[in-house]
Amino acid sequence: MNDLRIAIMGAEGRMGQQLVRAVAASEGCVVAGATERPGSVAVGKDIGVLAGLGPMGVNVSDNAEAVIAASDAILDFTAPAATLKFADMAACGGIVHVIGTTGFSQEDEAKIRAAAERARIIKAGNMSLGVNLLTAVTRRVSAALDMDFDIEIVEMHHRHKVDAPSGTALMLAHAAADGRGVSLEDTAVRVRDGHTGPRAKGAIGMQSLRGGSVVGDHTVILAGEGERIELTHRAEDRSIFARGAVKAALWGRDKAPGLYSMIDVLGL
Ligand code: NAP
Repeated sequence: MNDLRIAIMGAEGRMGQQLVRAVAASEGCVVAGATERPGSVAVGKDIGVLAGLGPMGVNVSDNAEAVIAASDAILDFTAPAATLKFADMAACGGIVHVIGTTGFSQEDEAKIRAAAERARIIKAGNMSLGVNLLTAVTRRVSAALDMDFDIEIVEMHHRHKVDAPSGTALMLAHAAADGRGVSLEDTAVRVRDGHTGPRAKGAIGMQSLRGGSVVGDHTVILAGEGERIELTHRAEDRSIFARGAVKAALWGRDKAPGLYSMIDVLGL
């Protein structure tokens, strides 16, 4: 089988550089292209040099359409507006689109589902093995405990993060709601301030902390009368997300068009 030709969208970003290093270190794939937005100082530069690996002979382009047309798969950790455009382009080519971007609205999610009728999209608010295991465990524990246990999800990220709650916190909250057989839309409490009154039974709360250089901490708290379970994952290095994204792209190459998650990729 030929090496999978992978393009990195937003290649100069925090995750973009990790993705370049992860593809370069993986078997069965090559860095075939890289993009940044038009006007970026990175355009025209060798992506290997930007990622600290030395020259790779692949320059950053501002022409996403041409880069996607010449690739079998794209790794996309950029921003919602950019990802929606890339999803249309990936759907035209029927290629693999790994979406790590977070912060989508419900309308955006519907557009991604539509693109998945033609593209093979693997989308996850968190691509690490540990968090996907935590998601599976959260679903099981929430199914096992009744509504007398209150569920709260606490996350902390670095000061540059622009969306809240994190995509991972939302993944965990969806898993908790699925486990309970309820809809997250009906039970989520995303903000508390002022005289809120007592906690509603069955609510799934989310709290976001921001500061410093924290890569990503998530805790699912299940608080009952007289006892409390806390399930925690701490990401110490962004390479865990990048390795997961490469694994997803390789997994997706022989799949039918559709919308998949890391739970599918990892077979959890
Ligand atoms: P970042 O450092 O800001 O990187 C994003 C990059 O994408 C930037 O270089 C940005 O360029 C670029 N970009 C934006 N629009 C573009 C466009 N139209 N064409 C090409 N490039 C474009 O952010 P990050 O920390 O890497 O995070 C990126 C996203 O991944 C966020 O949504 C974050 O929450 C998510 N994330 C997901 C996971 C996961 O496992 N799923 C893990 C970590 C992060 P400009 O600077 O010019 O805007």
